[in-house]
Amino acid sequence: MQTKDVADRQEGPFSDGQGPRCRVCGKPLYGRPDKRFCSSRCKNIFNNSKYREQRRLLDSFNGTLRANYFLLRQMFADGRRHCPKNDLLSAGFAPDCYNSVIVTPLSKWYRCFDLCYRIGFKFVYLRKK
Ligand SMILES: [Zn+2]
Repeated sequence: MQTKDVADRQEGPFSDGQGPRCRVCGKPLYGRPDKRFCSSRCKNIFNNSKYREQRRLLDSFNGTLRANYFLLRQMFADGRRHCPKNDLLSAGFAPDCYNSVIVTPLSKWYRCFDLCYRIGFKFVYLRKK
């Protein structure tokens, strides 16, 4: 996703019919006809802006996943194999944030790094990978 700033530069003020211009700073472009930026600096500015939102989403997801992992480890630290679902949820556990799903004929396990959990009606069950 692009920021509005870069999106404006792509189509707005620098496309004036005067020949190709840099998508970031608007300087005239010379050389190859498919050139889009005047310098590697402008190219980096454009790409950093383009991927900023994706990185933000990924960082947010990874943060939640890490928090889930530490909550699971904490809740099951004493060797218990299950804990009340409400305890885990009220501690901030986000059940929809996991690495992958393991479907067995009888149940569905969610993997959070090396831990797997299954959400029952009242309890959350844990096992090692
Ligand atoms: Zn430029």
